[in-house]
Amino acid sequence: MTMAIKSTSGLLGQLPSVRGELRAYVPLARYTWFRVGGPAEVLFTPADSDDLSGFLKDCPKNIPITVIGLGSNLLIRDGGIPGVVIRLVRGLSVVRCVDDEIVAGAGALSVRVSRLAALAGIGGLEFLSGVPGSIGGAVRMNAGAYGKDVSDVLVSAVAIDRAGLSWERTAEEFCFSYRKSLGLAKDTIVIAARFRGYAETSGKITERMDEIQQFRFGSQPVRDRTGGSTFTNPPQDEAWRLIDSAGCRGLRLGGALVSEKHCNFLVNTGSATAADIECLGEEVRRRVFHKTGTRLEWEIQRLGCHDRWAESCNA
Ligand SMILES: Cc1cc2nc3c(=O)[nH]c(=O)nc-3n(C[C@H](O)[C@H](O)[C@H](O)COP(=O)(O)OP(=O)(O)OC[C@H]3O[C@@H](n4cnc5c(N)ncnc54)[C@H](O)[C@@H]3O)c2cc1C
Repeated sequence: MTMAIKSTSGLLGQLPSVRGELRAYVPLARYTWFRVGGPAEVLFTPADSDDLSGFLKDCPKNIPITVIGLGSNLLIRDGGIPGVVIRLVRGLSVVRCVDDEIVAGAGALSVRVSRLAALAGIGGLEFLSGVPGSIGGAVRMNAGAYGKDVSDVLVSAVAIDRAGLSWERTAEEFCFSYRKSLGLAKDTIVIAARFRGYAETSGKITERMDEIQQFRFGSQPVRDRTGGSTFTNPPQDEAWRLIDSAGCRGLRLGGALVSEKHCNFLVNTGSATAADIECLGEEVRRRVFHKTGTRLEWEIQRLGCHDRWAESCNA
């Protein structure tokens, strides 16, 4: 996407008024698990879905819009994100049980959905307790773990487009595949989702959630500054195995490190820039290709510009 935006205050002046919050030049690093990256030219936190809809309807269409969730699968580049970044995590976060389904706002944390399902005796959603992030991010990424993903449990989701129009789509309409929702256009925002499971005792569900937590803490660097799985698994293989066989476990570049604990995770050791992390990821891809002939594909979503307020950038 090519864009040319230079003036921060100028952009705020072009935006419609909202009930939520519009702030210029907001550092985004604190909103990502990696804790790196530059600012949003403008950060919008909508008060609710009507506020978001009204904003999208009246926002000039030449202004780029980017949505972020909890930032657990994101690498925001050091130059930041031009245009408006929309963050739903503070608003749109209600989770409730309706009959035998769980309905959640896109800003709700996935773990809250699995906890409410456990209380309500709805089995099958416990894998969401092992996926950090928001429901909007989980739908976009078709997040999954331990043999299940969102496509197995989603009944439908409400999405809102660039014109501010919202509509409910069935799970089939999202055309889910491994870590992808091909039916969801890039500039369309998920605002709520409905999940179904099966009847199960709360005790059994909680037991499985405890097992998931133990497994995660034992196998993933969950206490580090990371972005989850860096690369998707190639067909019939596992990214971590290829990375290991290419000798990349423990590889460092600046403040970025290939995790010793799980080598498909990159870690910010404290002083990394987004460029360190992205370059280290590219170096891993290069070595894996050289060693195995397989081209790893990024699972982490890389957003924004390498240089601040660049004339153009590829988001
Ligand atoms: C320690 C750790 C472990 C992880 N383990 C797993 C795992 O086991 N399985 C797994 O699948 N993932 C895992 N992840 C990755 C991540 O947790 C998931 O992809 C999560 O669902 C992302 O949600 P988020 O809210 O953080 O999205 P973000 O990281 O903020 O965004 C991810 C993408 O979703 C888009 N997006 C966010 N919200 C919306 C919305 N409302 N509408 C439309 N698009 C949106 C963003 O634009 C971006 O492209 C892990 C991450 C970490 C840090």
